[in-house]
Amino acid sequence: MSEHNDNNSPAQRLATVQADIAAACKRANRVETPPTLIAVSKTHAAEAIAPVIALGHRDFGENRVQEAQGKWPTLREQYHDVRLHMIGQLQSNKAADAVALFDMIHSLDRPSLAKALAKAMADQGKQVPCLIQVNIGDEEQKGGCAVSDIGALLETAKGHKIPAIGLMCIPPADLEPAPYFALLDKLANDHGLTERSMGMSGDYVTATEIGSTMLRVGSALFGPRGG
Ligand SMILES: *Cc1c(COP(=O)(O)O)cnc(C)c1O
Repeated sequence: MSEHNDNNSPAQRLATVQADIAAACKRANRVETPPTLIAVSKTHAAEAIAPVIALGHRDFGENRVQEAQGKWPTLREQYHDVRLHMIGQLQSNKAADAVALFDMIHSLDRPSLAKALAKAMADQGKQVPCLIQVNIGDEEQKGGCAVSDIGALLETAKGHKIPAIGLMCIPPADLEPAPYFALLDKLANDHGLTERSMGMSGDYVTATEIGSTMLRVGSALFGPRGG
């Protein structure tokens, strides 16, 4: 498909998503404090990502350390001010690589990972802000810590001097996401945390209206994955 004269160019997709977010901010009375749009570039090659950076976009999300290591160091040579977000499940043996590469980690979900991240941050002299991923729908197969474990995991992070600044969730598929976004917003509030990483391609407007501070949007910006 041509990138120049159809209405699915990266520039047009980005403009559409940004306009949706701006309209939602207006409705929710938060024009002064819009959420950060994280462009989720997983599975997409550097050639697809570079045009979006060139449009001025700076926040990007990846879900696999190894894949991100393969494409971002080169892109960053050209664009030094890109901010990279780790949004996928993180194995403890990849903690050092993640700390080296990413500017924020959205998937802190267990004490053993907190320990590994703390050691990596100390070794590298680099503080990487983290979000606690919450299994907001209490789903059997889903990653994230249980709602009832958030407090304990925050204490563990604090004990390890990890900057834990918010919560992240992926609501159950095929259910109305609004109640889950509202619950994450309340939990962040209860724990005195500022960041709420919630909202994807199908529900970023709803998430914006419910107080998301970071939207993780992939296919609405890059087109379908694996297509
Ligand atoms: C892939 C992914 C996204 C983006 O999904 P889209 O539906 O393509 O916007 C957001 N968050 C996480 C954790 C993901 O893995």
